[in-house]
Amino acid sequence: MQLKFYPYTLRLKKRFTISTHSRLTTPAVIVEIEHDGVTGYGEASLPPYLDEDQQSVISFLNKVNLNQFNNPIDLDSVIQKINETELGNNVAKAAINIALHDLVGKMLDVPLYRYLNILKKDDNFSSYTLSISDPKSLKERIKESSKYKFLKVKLGSKDDKKIIKTIRSVTSKLLFVDVNQGWSDKYFALDMIGWLKDQNVILIEQPLPKENLKDTSWLTERSPLPVIADETIKGFNDLHKIKNVYSGVNIKLMKAGGINQAYKMIQKSRELNLKVMIGCMTETSCAITAASHLSPLADWVDLDGAELISNDLFSGMKIIDGKIVIPESPGLGVNKLTN
Ligand code: MG
Repeated sequence: MQLKFYPYTLRLKKRFTISTHSRLTTPAVIVEIEHDGVTGYGEASLPPYLDEDQQSVISFLNKVNLNQFNNPIDLDSVIQKINETELGNNVAKAAINIALHDLVGKMLDVPLYRYLNILKKDDNFSSYTLSISDPKSLKERIKESSKYKFLKVKLGSKDDKKIIKTIRSVTSKLLFVDVNQGWSDKYFALDMIGWLKDQNVILIEQPLPKENLKDTSWLTERSPLPVIADETIKGFNDLHKIKNVYSGVNIKLMKAGGINQAYKMIQKSRELNLKVMIGCMTETSCAITAASHLSPLADWVDLDGAELISNDLFSGMKIIDGKIVIPESPGLGVNKLTN
């Protein structure tokens, strides 16, 4: 197997603002693994709040020696060995993990969801994210996202109610709310959640700071809406600490360390009686399509990351009438676009 990788900068169509930061680009690293004339694609996406960056990903990938493996189809043991290269580095591991799944799916001539024994389902919808912005831009973005059934609204600003009222002036779609740790007081959070429930919001993601499990547990017990962990969870080993603290977890390939790792997180979450959202960073259609193969296993799906960028390198998963259409071609089912 031959490993190739290169840095790539994802350009956001619109400024992306959440409670903790604002940005116009997201650094990424694209990975290609070639074996017997077949190429598998993978991707690391590196928004600023992660512990990894392009340099750390490249440095990890430089340490991976794929020449020691002559049978990629023995995927679990290949992945295990790669993951043992060094602790952490989940985003770098995700990139290589995605590429290996793509390669093996292509070699076996089977789409990834079938390789994983996942059954497609009919009511598989993704949300579309509205980052924090002024009323005029919010309305424009709602217009542009007409094909989505759900909207995911970023809150945690001083104008939270105004943002929701603006959205409600133009659409009655069901809303997810993601606070990105933006509320600091549990009583304020509980009041807001009560108000949001009346606005047809169906879940609240990461309302309080990620380390504040005591107040989050208090809040979840009283909240009329499910409270979902995102920033609190960095990977599989964190899941046990949120049982009875959150109602569910947002699982992302980048944080999990790839496809089979995210699948294990889904299974563990079910054991812990946690609801599951499959989410993403801003990513190309490569990683988004990879995550879409797991989406039938989730209660909620937020896979709009490729829709938010203007320089997607791949085509793959599509949203048609709000529904996620998982590709039927082998592997991830992505095609690299020439640029
Ligand atoms: Mg989130």
